Amino acid sequence: MDGKIDLVGSFATDWIRYSDYDIKETSTGDIYITPSENASFSMYNPFNVAEDLIINLITLGDIALKLEKEMNKKNKEKLYNEILIFAKKYGLLGLISASVYNQNIVGDEKVLLIENNHITKEKIMDESKYINQFIPFVEDDDITINKYKNCVDIVKREDSPKFYGKRPVILDLVFSKFYSEKINWIIDFAKMIAKHFNQLLVYKNTSVNLTENVTIMAGKFHARKIGFTINQLDKTTIAWEFDSLKTTIETIYAFAVTDEKIVFNRCKHCKNVFIANNIRSKYCDVSCRNRANVKKSRERKSNK
Ligand SMILES: [Zn+2]
Repeated sequence: MDGKIDLVGSFATDWIRYSDYDIKETSTGDIYITPSENASFSMYNPFNVAEDLIINLITLGDIALKLEKEMNKKNKEKLYNEILIFAKKYGLLGLISASVYNQNIVGDEKVLLIENNHITKEKIMDESKYINQFIPFVEDDDITINKYKNCVDIVKREDSPKFYGKRPVILDLVFSKFYSEKINWIIDFAKMIAKHFNQLLVYKNTSVNLTENVTIMAGKFHARKIGFTINQLDKTTIAWEFDSLKTTIETIYAFAVTDEKIVFNRCKHCKNVFIANNIRSKYCDVSCRNRANVKKSRERKSNK
């Protein structure tokens, strides 16, 4: 298939996105992105849009890296707008489940955080303190967490999906309209992937000089929460299991940059990330190639 990442195994998963999001500030001055009050939700399979998802995320990271050099009011608004566009397309990252080793989180007394989690430097946190960071705008009866002797249940004052234990309980919360994420967490993740991709390209272009394996951003890029099981229908397949959009993205990214049939590259002219069908294509489209040629011939003339 042309321009498609070759994903090995069964990748069906679904994720939630709302029709609209707001940027909201808490009383303590933290800036969050949260589904709008009247937004409706839809489910989608991130693996069906794998290529766009990776390109859009790296581009978001690129924009953040560029704008942060001069973070004035105008640039801040520009960046917030990019995050809103991303969220409307793909939903929030699900960092609440991606950032801790705990499976269900709800009902555990303490959560154990993974390293470089984009949220906090703390290593262990009380469950309620941890969860409250993701529902800063929740009001009285919006969400009730019931804890029984052997199980927990989340009651929501709206109609988003519930999994009745088929997926980790925390997803009942993630898929609700009250689940929010800090802008900075999302930016931090997007920047990390964009930087990872930049370093990867540097090593790729100098790979003739490498004598042993180089782990790109060894401490920073380390997907922790990916599980899989084995399914049998007409053939035996790996069925990957994801409990966040973040780990889904990390997986797609890993397959994308290691794919042997397609090449994720940066355009030599505009620097945008694009999918090339072979290693020799250096420009994202014909107009960039033309502009680059014009520039080259101008430079040649001025050097004469
Ligand atoms: Zn280009």
